[in-house]
Amino acid sequence: MPDSTTDDLPFELKNPTAYQWTEKAYDLLLTDALTVALTVRHRIEIATASGDCPRCGHDVQFSMERDAPIPGTIGGLGTEDSSMTEDYVAVDVECRCKGGHPGRPDGISKGCGIVFRTEVQRTTT
Ligand SMILES: [Zn+2]
Ligand SMILES: [Zn+2]
Repeated sequence: MPDSTTDDLPFELKNPTAYQWTEKAYDLLLTDALTVALTVRHRIEIATASGDCPRCGHDVQFSMERDAPIPGTIGGLGTEDSSMTEDYVAVDVECRCKGGHPGRPDGISKGCGIVFRTEVQRTTT
């Protein structure tokens, strides 16, 4: 892998959710440089992301659990495509890279400070 990461990039404090990161993340998702998954298990959603951060290029190494908004049961009455529900959910991914970014606030040990939004298909197990 070419060394395109940036270790001296300051931690982002002014505009962590700037739309450009969401846009750039979208491009990275299309090329599989970044992958995001959302799995529902026992009514808990587990979001994970790995791959290039749209800002610093380090591995984002993100994972988060949250309560699933809807229990993962779909009433199957023999309707069509019951096994292929198009269930896309917005997941906010935070960069949690291990790279060095000066200016990180106390209590934060990872990441370059940005958050970006992705849309992923929910997988119910
Ligand atoms: Zn980084
Ligand atoms: Zn980053």
